[in-house]
Amino acid sequence: MAPERVRFAPSPTGMFHVGSARTALYNWVVARQSGGAFILRIDDTDEERNREDWVDGILSALRWLGLTWDEGPIRQSSRLERYREAAEKLLASNQAYWCDCTRAAVDARKPPGAPPGYDGFCRDRNLGPGPGRALRFRVPDRDVVVEDLVRGSVTFPAGSIEDFIVVKSSGQPLYVLANVVDDVDFAITLVLRAEEHLPTTPKAVLLHEALATTPPRFAHLSFLVNAQRQKLSKRRDRVAVEDYRALGVLPWALLNYLALLGWSPGGDEEFFSREELIERFDLARLQHAPAFFDERKLLAFNQHYLAEASSEDLIEAGHDLFAAIGALDDEDRRSRLRELLPLVAPRVRTLAEAAAMSRFLFREPEVPADEVETLPPEASSWLGAAEDALSTLEPFDAASIEASLRRLASSLGTTLRALQAPIRLATTGARVGPPLFAALELLGRAATLRRLERLIERLGARGPRAE
Ligand code: GLU
Repeated sequence: MAPERVRFAPSPTGMFHVGSARTALYNWVVARQSGGAFILRIDDTDEERNREDWVDGILSALRWLGLTWDEGPIRQSSRLERYREAAEKLLASNQAYWCDCTRAAVDARKPPGAPPGYDGFCRDRNLGPGPGRALRFRVPDRDVVVEDLVRGSVTFPAGSIEDFIVVKSSGQPLYVLANVVDDVDFAITLVLRAEEHLPTTPKAVLLHEALATTPPRFAHLSFLVNAQRQKLSKRRDRVAVEDYRALGVLPWALLNYLALLGWSPGGDEEFFSREELIERFDLARLQHAPAFFDERKLLAFNQHYLAEASSEDLIEAGHDLFAAIGALDDEDRRSRLRELLPLVAPRVRTLAEAAAMSRFLFREPEVPADEVETLPPEASSWLGAAEDALSTLEPFDAASIEASLRRLASSLGTTLRALQAPIRLATTGARVGPPLFAALELLGRAATLRRLERLIERLGARGPRAE
């Protein structure tokens, strides 16, 4: 396989989107598997829509995902001179012309029912540059064919592409021109990007012809859609990579899941390591049907990777979440968290859930009033009996706690399961959580007894339940 020079070229106009993460991943994989280069370009020529903090967001998301680039970031805003040179070339060869038409003037000229787009009014007016004048490309009157690795030959019939603007009247070169110049200057061999760019691709093909440069190959990736089969949208759907990061989705879980949206390994396998993906990924297996971005499935992938990860890796990945519950305040706490996490990880889908489920070990739980209400009338006396049994238990470890509570349950004429419910609520503040006996061992005797006592007091204050 020949080394591919690929680029990922986000525009810094919003949060980094899961669709962008997928595009970046595929480009990165192609560069790695072909021994080529992954180039990061920031498409920041649109001054009105760009923001510097979005650039930071892109870099930080790519670093977090581990998609390291070999060249760049190349800022289009620093290359305006190159785009102007290309515009000059088009003008000098009469393949571009100045135009002073406003959109309103174009519309006013059109007979009813005329096709949309520019009517070529200034084509032969030989205008020079000046205020309010944009530079338009003279589109030849013939079909344009785009060869796409995913879609095959796509024909754009003669007349379907208007004489498009390459430099705005403000002097700002447009993306369509900048992109062509950059792809040539950085010797890009393959453009792998979202389907929404397919309509501008014939324009790129024409510009390459006009500038006598060789176009890269193209592959346009399918759309990501939501459960209603609508294109994923920032307004409707959770799409920001940052949001999944904050939830505690592991970067590789996200990438492994995204890898399968629009590409198929050709079997039922779903879980791949980075190395396996680099080995298996095949451009010939890109799919054109829209791919359903299913958050539930993503979280199932994350659950799989959480259950496999070591405690230290989980702590590192969820550092801020665990710091927020006080679990990383000192070495003793950290080591108790390390012991708890293997019990918690198989029961959660995100690190945020893992932190919530671990919180009881480091913070006094707030037992919700509505949960207290659901306890049976015997709860108070059961808790008292458990307090007695556990106060002298030796050793205070999971096996002895289980044996002791099992004996207690049978002497109280109830089940171990029923007895555990108020104990779990008192000590962890929740009805579900890690295996109780191991959790109590980690919590320690003193805290366990204190929490049982607190709930007994609350139940006493509740008084006898009305039947
Ligand atoms: N800057 C474009 C975008 O963010 C990508 C253009 C390209 O890949 O050619 O959608």
